[in-house]
Amino acid sequence: MARALIVVDVQNDFCEGGALAVVGGAAAAGAISAHLDAHAADYALVAATADWHEPLPDSNDGHFAVDGAPDYVSTWPEHCVRDSAGASFHPDLRLPSGTVLVHKGQGRQDYSGFAGQLVGRPGDLAAALRAAEVTEVDVVGLATDHCVTATALDARGAGFAVRVLTDLTAGVSTSTSIAALTRLHRSGVELVTSQP
Ligand SMILES: [Zn+2]
Repeated sequence: MARALIVVDVQNDFCEGGALAVVGGAAAAGAISAHLDAHAADYALVAATADWHEPLPDSNDGHFAVDGAPDYVSTWPEHCVRDSAGASFHPDLRLPSGTVLVHKGQGRQDYSGFAGQLVGRPGDLAAALRAAEVTEVDVVGLATDHCVTATALDARGAGFAVRVLTDLTAGVSTSTSIAALTRLHRSGVELVTSQP
């Protein structure tokens, strides 16, 4: 059995000072790096996803609010525009060499890393995991209540054993994070912390 770590969307726009900041985003970036330093040997593969949108006026299939204010449920302010500083990984996130990069949301509203495409080679995240004979995945990153949850649910749906390391995530709001974690638990995703 091999385990992978999936680092979801730890990008500047989702951290403090970014276009769609999550409180605790920068702290999660540092904590994920510390976890990787301590547990690199536990993972056969590390993957990192990035939201990678087209700039306004492209709505990215309704993901960006174009007419009126975003509702922060299904429409959002412009964020993570491809190749922008906001789309870059937070500087406190240190990824090992060989990390598999995934871009998602190119002109679309992708929440799950499994909806994206590998960077620099054909294929998607599920294919990369299977090629590495991964059967178990740990999911961390931003935001708990949106892309982390969507990625974890898709991993479960693809047949992987899934854990979310909750102390290495941060959510948009407490109420939606609790609802998301409840849904994950009911779907067979294990909720644990990175510390025993
Ligand atoms: Zn997005």
